[in-house]
Amino acid sequence: MQEQTLLIIKPDAIERHLAGKIIQKIEESGFEIGAIKKVVLTKKQAEAFYGVHRDKEFFSDLVEFMTSGPCIPMVVRGENAVHGIRELVGATDPEKAYENTIRALWGTTIRKNCVHASDCEKSAEKEICFFFDLCSIVI
Ligand code: GDP
Repeated sequence: MQEQTLLIIKPDAIERHLAGKIIQKIEESGFEIGAIKKVVLTKKQAEAFYGVHRDKEFFSDLVEFMTSGPCIPMVVRGENAVHGIRELVGATDPEKAYENTIRALWGTTIRKNCVHASDCEKSAEKEICFFFDLCSIVI
């Protein structure tokens, strides 16, 4: 089934000039970019985006990291894109991620793991709307 999901290239990857490599990996894996932009999240925006983690001990660290530099959110689409992109991204901790996943290739720590990807269809819909107007997504 054709789906779309949200992927964010996080500040650590941008600082290390990995955006191009990550996009190439996504495209080579058969997915297409439907919309893309570069943003600097405010503290409030990062807190809202990661609201489900509000009670976790790493929440303030995560918000600090996500506001430490620009991010590149993008809508990615393709066959089973939600699950497929999560597979391509790999486990949260790069050390535990399968070989050849984005986080195994370029992630450095559980915090600096290069990318975010929506974890289910419902989150994908919500997270796409967080960053993009429907009219800015190329069909
Ligand atoms: P994801 O869906 O694989 O991104 O993982 P989660 O939704 O559980 O966590 C969101 C993000 O919070 C992760 O991608 C990491 O950047 C960060 N994070 C998760 N666990 C930890 C942790 O134990 N310590 C720190 N510092 N950051 C974490």
